[in-house]
Amino acid sequence: MTLALPRRTLLLGLGAAGLASRAIAQTDRFVVPPLAPLRMEMGRITKVTVCLRPFRAAGPRLDVEKVGSKRVVHNYGHGGSGWSLSWGSAQIATAKALEGGTKRVAVIGCGAIGLTTALTLLRAGAKVTIYAADRTPYTRSVRATGTWSPDSRIADHDRIDAGFPALWDSMARSSYATWQTLLGRPGDPVAWSDRYGLADPIIETPPIAFPDRPVNAPEIRFFEQRLPGLAPRGHDLQPGQHPFPVSRARLSTSMQFNVAELAHLLTTDFLLEGGRIETRTFNTPADLQRLRQPVIVNCTGYGARALWKDESVVPVRGQINWLAPQPEVHYGLYYRDVNVLPRPDGIVVQYSGTSDMWGYGCEDETPDMAEAEAAIRTIAPLFEAPKAL
Ligand SMILES: Cc1cc2nc3c(=O)[nH]c(=O)nc-3n(C[C@H](O)[C@H](O)[C@H](O)COP(=O)(O)OP(=O)(O)OC[C@H]3O[C@@H](n4cnc5c(N)ncnc54)[C@H](O)[C@@H]3O)c2cc1C
Repeated sequence: MTLALPRRTLLLGLGAAGLASRAIAQTDRFVVPPLAPLRMEMGRITKVTVCLRPFRAAGPRLDVEKVGSKRVVHNYGHGGSGWSLSWGSAQIATAKALEGGTKRVAVIGCGAIGLTTALTLLRAGAKVTIYAADRTPYTRSVRATGTWSPDSRIADHDRIDAGFPALWDSMARSSYATWQTLLGRPGDPVAWSDRYGLADPIIETPPIAFPDRPVNAPEIRFFEQRLPGLAPRGHDLQPGQHPFPVSRARLSTSMQFNVAELAHLLTTDFLLEGGRIETRTFNTPADLQRLRQPVIVNCTGYGARALWKDESVVPVRGQINWLAPQPEVHYGLYYRDVNVLPRPDGIVVQYSGTSDMWGYGCEDETPDMAEAEAAIRTIAPLFEAPKAL
């Protein structure tokens, strides 16, 4: 939806120094607040992390399977939406796990899906142990961007069954409702933040080249079209109503997961509420027979590809370039396929590719410094004097 905004006057010029203190005069209700500049410098990189989204064309696996004497409920394959959909997916897995009245449940995996599933089971009255090879802060989930993205690489529209859109809708809505209960907590595990979508630089320059990655698959298509009224809607800003040197800008407000604090909070809550965590690696499904619990929820994410020999799980590589934290920055932005999100543990700078397929089929978790540099160089001109753009 495009909202026509009232006319207002840009008081201060562009450039890094001006951006810190600029303000926009206005005649009525809307003001773009003064924005602290982002410091986009290679020298501010603190680390580069890589993670693999566990994509399944048909959507997450949530069926039940009998393995020897155990009932296994699967809960894996959430693509780029694992944090966003976790609570809703956990509710579905919990209902299946507790069918028949069992109260002793093992959860395999301690990422976003394992932690939320284990907590949901515990709160439904089960006695729960998590078994996992890795736990916070060493799971892939901890390397996520940390934004509400319920339709990111979650399925291929051409490969889902007829019931999937409604299932996805209910997972997204119940997750969203649960995330609202974690707002306003110390350390802001979940928060709202403004995001500026920027396009069309006033002084056109060629886009920075990113390293090539082979893409050998059809476009992933499944979009967030079914959640009207759930989250705040964005609106377009007119030139002169925002401080950025671009012709098109859109302001939205979105939910943010501060994953370091969030994963810690979920782990702590699980332990305080009586759950147990044990470090253990399973090499084949047969290894699960050694567990005491009759019901097992399989939340192994990308690990399910090897453990369950499930080749329907395809990696979609994503890299995050972390810059030193800037506590004074409270907004994110998206420009030329690069996403920037300020978090307490650092500034996330991430090339998302020209399509959701960027990184599809790539299992390489080695940081790519050329990608990091290209991402930072793409954003830097937004905070330089106009002539440098
Ligand atoms: C770059 C990037 C950015 C992302 N950003 C977002 C975002 O902003 N918002 C969002 O909602 N989602 C995002 N995602 C997606 C999200 O990170 C994933 O969907 C999510 O991490 C999947 O969680 P999981 O718990 O299924 O898997 P994992 O976090 O991988 O956890 C798997 C667990 O299972 C354990 N395990 C695996 N195999 C075995 C085994 N054989 N034996 C024992 N234990 C095992 C692991 O040790 C681990 O504890 C992003 C992903 C990437 C790559």
